[in-house]
Amino acid sequence: MTVRVRLAPSPTGTLHIGTARTALFNWLFAKKEKGKFLIRIEDTDKERSKNEYIENIFEGLKWLGITSDEEPVIQSNRINEHKKAIQNLLDKGQAYRCFATEEELDLMRQQQKDNSQAPRYDNRSRNLSKEKESEFLRQGRTSVIRFRINDEESIIWKDLIRGPMKWSGKDLGGDMVISRRSIGNEIGDPLYNLVVVVDDAAMKITHVIRGEDHIANTAKQILLYKALGLKIPEFAHTPLILNAEGKKLSKRDGVTSINDFKEMGYTSEATSNYMTLLGWSVPEGMDERFTLEEVSKIFSLNKINKAGAKFDWDKINWLNAQVIHNSSPNDLFQLLSPLWEKNGWKSPNDEWGKSLAKLLSSSMTLIQEGVDQAKPFFEEPELKEEAIKQINVEGAKLALKSILKKLEKYSSEQFDKQEAKKILEEVSKTEGIKKGIIMKSLRAALLGEMQGPDLISTWIILSRASKDRARINRCF
Ligand code: GLU
Repeated sequence: MTVRVRLAPSPTGTLHIGTARTALFNWLFAKKEKGKFLIRIEDTDKERSKNEYIENIFEGLKWLGITSDEEPVIQSNRINEHKKAIQNLLDKGQAYRCFATEEELDLMRQQQKDNSQAPRYDNRSRNLSKEKESEFLRQGRTSVIRFRINDEESIIWKDLIRGPMKWSGKDLGGDMVISRRSIGNEIGDPLYNLVVVVDDAAMKITHVIRGEDHIANTAKQILLYKALGLKIPEFAHTPLILNAEGKKLSKRDGVTSINDFKEMGYTSEATSNYMTLLGWSVPEGMDERFTLEEVSKIFSLNKINKAGAKFDWDKINWLNAQVIHNSSPNDLFQLLSPLWEKNGWKSPNDEWGKSLAKLLSSSMTLIQEGVDQAKPFFEEPELKEEAIKQINVEGAKLALKSILKKLEKYSSEQFDKQEAKKILEEVSKTEGIKKGIIMKSLRAALLGEMQGPDLISTWIILSRASKDRARINRCF
């Protein structure tokens, strides 16, 4: 049997973090089992589905490193298949038309509430006589189609994450609506549980891996598989993603969509690494830092926890910093240069940009910090008060003058680290000024402040952009 799994996002919003994590688990499982990962866009809610969300979902998945192994299925194109299945259930008597009006149903629910009963459809239209049905149709009443659910039936499956599961038919809310309201003998728009079953079977899905909020749907879907005579896949329900307080992660926690991570300055590698760790634990002895390729060799569903997964900012930040520190100058430059350009900053050449990206990376946790910290390399910074103070320290100006003098010997292209260090040594010796003072003063002159990346590298980079001498000069 070839494993076939799918992600079935509804394009009613941007790629949600929970959907992205479900996508990763499905993709990793497919790769591990040498199977196929498929995507089905569930766009049957015409009012809420938008093309821009479809694009956002595909883009977000691609950013994380996930693509579909087959042409994605667009659910709305398959409406005839869905309707055929409903007709089949009607023909077999496993589904029927329910003409109850919204007012009647509201009244029913109100009565249940008044009697402290759980809300459920009371199956009132189950055994409507042919005559009554014809009468309703003549009156022009609209109807939904309902699937019969036997209250006495037990629904059992072995969940690949949660173990043995058992549901009772009576807990499923009464006979289930499988098509929206329609007039006359038409079949209205087919609804979620029905279409998912029809499509998963048509796509030959072997394992349905999705969030635990779908557990009750799984029970209903198993009944539909049986009624339609379709092969029931295996099921695995993944835990919810929780915030630090243990509540379901929401907009208030600052992230809901994968875009947010990109915009906040997380790398795709750290994001997909972290998402995988949200609910899945690495086997003992394995590093928690991995690429999707690496983890796809050892991924298993039984290492997914049943309990909710708490979102941990410290951990994703740590992973992001790790990815940034281990990135090549070229990769860092590719990430940063479009952001620099957005601010109108252009590197004199790619080599220069790569050196700057690498230099800044040592203190970066988020990509965005490589933009803020790059500013003084592109734009002349104002001298902050602390820098002015430093330049006025005894010996500072003399040291800077002496540095300038020595620089005359070098062109900005040749000047390198060794020569820079040599200049500092010589100035210290000949002028009798402590190296600490020289270095602090040089930093103040070059960056206008007392904090920043490695001084010698900063100097070389500014020198290669022909910016060091002017900055030293302005201190006098
Ligand atoms: N469209 C459903 C959702 O986004 C799919 C659930 C499923 O995987 O069956 O929640």
